[in-house]
Amino acid sequence: MTKQRMEFKAETRQILDLMIHSLYSHKEVFLRELLSNASDAIDKARYESLTNKGILEGDGEWKIKISADRNTGALTVSDNGIGMTRDEVIQEIGTIAHSGTRDFLAAMKNAGRNENTELIGQFGVGFYSSFMVADKVTVISRKAGHDAGSGVVWESSADGSFTVEDVEKQQKGTEVILHLKEDAKIYLDEWVIRDTVRKYSDFIEHPIVMDIEREEESSIKKEEKIKVTSEETLNSRKAIWLKQKSEVTEPEYNEFYRHISHDFSDPAKVIHFRAEGASEFTALIYLPSQRPADIFFRDYKFGPALYVKRVKIMEHCEELVPPYLRFVKGVVESSDLPLNVSREILQSNRHMEIIRNNLTKKILDTLDDMKKNDYGNYLKFHGSFGRVLKEGIHFDFSRREAIAELLLFHSTKEDGEKLRTVADYAAGMKEGQKEIYYITASSIGEAENSPYLEAFRVKGYEVLIMLDDIDDIVMGSLEYKGKRLKSVIKGEVALDSGDKEEKEKHEKAYKELLEVIREQLKDDVKDVRLSGRLRDSACCLVADEGDMDPQLEKILRQMGQEVPERKRILEVNPSHPLLRVMNNFLAEKKESLLLGEYISLLYDQARLIEGSKPKNPAAFAKTIVKLMVEHSAPKHD
Ligand code: ADP
Repeated sequence: MTKQRMEFKAETRQILDLMIHSLYSHKEVFLRELLSNASDAIDKARYESLTNKGILEGDGEWKIKISADRNTGALTVSDNGIGMTRDEVIQEIGTIAHSGTRDFLAAMKNAGRNENTELIGQFGVGFYSSFMVADKVTVISRKAGHDAGSGVVWESSADGSFTVEDVEKQQKGTEVILHLKEDAKIYLDEWVIRDTVRKYSDFIEHPIVMDIEREEESSIKKEEKIKVTSEETLNSRKAIWLKQKSEVTEPEYNEFYRHISHDFSDPAKVIHFRAEGASEFTALIYLPSQRPADIFFRDYKFGPALYVKRVKIMEHCEELVPPYLRFVKGVVESSDLPLNVSREILQSNRHMEIIRNNLTKKILDTLDDMKKNDYGNYLKFHGSFGRVLKEGIHFDFSRREAIAELLLFHSTKEDGEKLRTVADYAAGMKEGQKEIYYITASSIGEAENSPYLEAFRVKGYEVLIMLDDIDDIVMGSLEYKGKRLKSVIKGEVALDSGDKEEKEKHEKAYKELLEVIREQLKDDVKDVRLSGRLRDSACCLVADEGDMDPQLEKILRQMGQEVPERKRILEVNPSHPLLRVMNNFLAEKKESLLLGEYISLLYDQARLIEGSKPKNPAAFAKTIVKLMVEHSAPKHD
């Protein structure tokens, strides 16, 4: 096929534009990105060669080579990895707008000047960072196992388009040639290259080599210097997870984290250990500090990378950790698994199960330790991932109490700076208290001002405040140390048994009134009853015990989901003077028009309190105004 010119997608053009015009610092990260791509390409080839020797083409000596040509100003990174077909080149580095591109552009807009280069690696736009230092980039690639004639040359000057052309390429793999800009020629310097490799890519396990020219004394003529070229390996190649903890510095851990996670911030915690016993493995696990934007997406890829005997088997091995720990990043290497392990084998493998259990325990223990001994750091972590961790209560029955203890909540009981846990709550429970009370709300303010808490406050019961959408489903199903968690906005509340006598008295006094209210509101509410949770407010609406949480209903509706209208229960406060007033109306005249208006107002008020509109706002306003006028009118009798 002849040379073909194609256009970049609009988003890719924007990325390129940014690379060329807006990024000034840390330009050297382009090399990290290219070496990382080359290393991935070799991993892929090596893994595939386990089942298909043909793609080796007799060359299994994996290598990444950097060449600097001072005469032409070209810097080349080449690998003998998997390579790309013509279509793949066009797809992967040509027209495709990577899914992360839009997020990247948005993040760049918000980022400060110094942060912005850190973002490059994060969104899979690594290759384009070449244009920070080069005004033209040429990629020559040929897929491993295909014939030499199927090579392809891709070239672009980042001017909105690129070209592709067929070419013959003997060696499998990819060569990326950067035609360096004048001010980027320093990257041809041997020591700059060495430093950059050591700083960002030292742990890459494949050798990164370069031809080094040295002057040596001639062995024939002692005084004469001759130039000798030899290939030197620039990286130490030691897989960081196989090193002793004491051999690895914090910056090294952090750099490796950036390499595997594409996250530019430092991790919240590093867990590095070697397990011995029934199953031997090494794990380097990171707890990130920032939540990735797509962690709640259905297709979010998670799990540490899996290595078997130094061979990378899988980038994300979901079998290694349960989904509620999907925020962790890292590497696990085992020598007990077969090299040609498949997904099906992984799912039923005994070693995998041991590793997963072991990792899960280690991660939960580490979080517990952080919570106890590094609270500030834990609080930040919890802000990012508490909502994910919480899913474990639902899905990991045997560990649900341990997970529950890791969750932090606001509460009606202040505890200085610290948030509360169910364990704190349980420790401070009143004698005879059987349930752990919580309220779901959309904000702390809303919860704190809620009339649903009145009686709990007066009687000194703590109520946990839950703000996550899944709280009612997840936390509501929890039993912690034999104590059920109970929502204060659902079902009946009876705080003290001492109230019983008074309750019976009230039941008798208001029996008829309740019936009248019930009859008038029969289309709007399920039932009308006296409340055990109100002190100052006259009324409120509550959901029935088994009904969906009103907070969750609201969220689902906002998300555009259809949620059937469910009738609530109207609770009225028997100690409120309003009820006495209404009872008097009733005693005077059964069919009182005024009583009817009061009942409507009562119901509408209850709706307002829970954050809904009155049933008929215009009528509501009219009745209020009428009563206000009547109240202020001079009395004639
Ligand atoms: P990322 O590596 O994060 O996916 P890049 O823009 O760096 O993003 O690369 C895009 C894609 O191009 C890679 O996912 C890979 O498929 C392909 N690619 C890049 N460099 C190479 C290489 N040296 N060998 C084979 N494929 C490569």
